[in-house]
Amino acid sequence: MADDYNIQISVPTVGDEEWCAIKSSIDSGWLTQGPKVKEFENLFAEKHQVRNALATTSCTTALHLMLLAAGIGPGDEVIVPSFTWISTANAVEYCGAKPVLCDVDVETYNISLESIIKKITPNTKAILVVHLFGLCVDVELIKSQIKSNILILEDCACAAGASIRGIPAGKLGLAGAFSFHPRKSITTGEGGMITTDDDNFSSLASKLRNHGAQISEESRHSGAKPYLLPDFDVLGYNYRMTDIQGAIGVVQISKLNRFIMEREQLAKLYVELLSEVPWIKSPVIPIDRQHAWQSFVTMIDPKSSPRNRDLVMEYLHQNGVASRPGTHAIHMLSYYKKKYSLSQSDFPGATSCALNSLALPLHNKMTSSDVKYVVKLLHEIK
Ligand SMILES: *Cc1c(COP(=O)(O)O)cnc(C)c1O
Repeated sequence: MADDYNIQISVPTVGDEEWCAIKSSIDSGWLTQGPKVKEFENLFAEKHQVRNALATTSCTTALHLMLLAAGIGPGDEVIVPSFTWISTANAVEYCGAKPVLCDVDVETYNISLESIIKKITPNTKAILVVHLFGLCVDVELIKSQIKSNILILEDCACAAGASIRGIPAGKLGLAGAFSFHPRKSITTGEGGMITTDDDNFSSLASKLRNHGAQISEESRHSGAKPYLLPDFDVLGYNYRMTDIQGAIGVVQISKLNRFIMEREQLAKLYVELLSEVPWIKSPVIPIDRQHAWQSFVTMIDPKSSPRNRDLVMEYLHQNGVASRPGTHAIHMLSYYKKKYSLSQSDFPGATSCALNSLALPLHNKMTSSDVKYVVKLLHEIK
């Protein structure tokens, strides 16, 4: 059986259309941020119903820019869930601010409101919520329970196309940061995007993305005053996306709806078939949310499971099926554990997710027989 099967955890769906787009971008001679990035930004903004979208080199750099543009700096605390990819917290560190880790809800894998309330201090400047694996956090509910001077920022790395009560991810707080890494629903190789309805925030983030220059590369290049160099009044960065990536993004965003629909079909089949495996819990899908299905993450019940999570993963691997832990818990990673003297017992939800979560293969090249095979293997485990 193992010889017949090789089901990967995730496979990017890119092909001929992306090839053609890259070629036309190279033929145009404009390789750095230019017309294709602009087109991608416009399509992305439209899809997420926001006034502004700014492409970046990754979600990590998008998070950094977003925090800088929100004025986060030394002395500030930013509340971050502990069960997330490390860069959510790293971006806060880059700004010289303190990431205050918060526990998560094991039902949804997302930040726990109860835990947020406990972590708020007079120094809390923002809450950086993470729509993990593509499920939106209920930002409205959080807003109703906290003071309005605390900013809400969104890590939307997994949430392109997700929404809650009809409002898209990236429009729920002051700004959102998306990822186009190949593990996410749509990809540009590496890449990211900031979304915001706030025009001033957007101009500042745009300036910081381009070394802090007061005029854009494009207008400088095409302007009538060749002697003009911009002035720089802030410390900026080079976080610009290339036009080659922008061209891939334009093709990928047009496929986002289809990608999500196909993944949703597979996810529903998983949920149905896994109901027969009592020691595995399928992800929860609240009815007010459109899940983006970046990953299909289950939880192994350590009490009733015949083997622990890691042994289950080994069994799948031996039979040609890739799997991964959902993600890691930041309080268990050495840099954070040492720097902030964190203890596991303060984060029971995130610790349990780190130890017992199991992401099963989910991507747009999978078929329903692949899903059936994965579940059959899980059934076999005794
Ligand atoms: C993938 C991911 C990131 C990082 O995205 P990059 O584009 O690789 O920098 C950040 N946060 C979360 C929650 C992620 O899943």
